[in-house]
Formats: sequence, C-alpha cells, structure tokens
Amino acid sequence: MKEPTAKLNETAPAKQYRCPECGLHYEDEAIAKKCAAWCSKHKSCNLEITQHAIETKKLKDQSQA
Ligand SMILES: [Zn+2]
Repeated sequence: MKEPTAKLNETAPAKQYRCPECGLHYEDEAIAKKCAAWCSKHKSCNLEITQHAIETKKLKDQSQA
C-alpha cells in the first residue's frame, strides 16, 4: 500500500515582507514597515524590531536545537 506523499505546502513560502534598508524579512508587514522606518532614520537596527525578523527566529531555532 502506497502512502501519498503530502508535499502540498512544503515548497510554498510563507508571505514575507522585506525591509529595503537592512534586508531582513518579516512575516508581518507592519513590523517590516517599522523596521524600514527605523533603519532609514537611524542607519542601524532596533533589537526590539529585528527580534521579529525571520532570520533572527531561524538563528534562535538553531541555537536551541
Ligand atoms: Zn530594517
């Protein structure tokens, strides 16, 4: 008996919003806009914002594993 390989959503990327200033990606458009506003104004990143970035979350997942 063959199991159907369920790969429906595996390759479909979640919607991401990129900060044009620092290049980090966010799942939330509002946060991405906040980041872009902060980055263009301060020319640096705000930890409060970048902790929500997909890249930052990935790093956290790796360090916890
Ligand atoms: Zn940014």
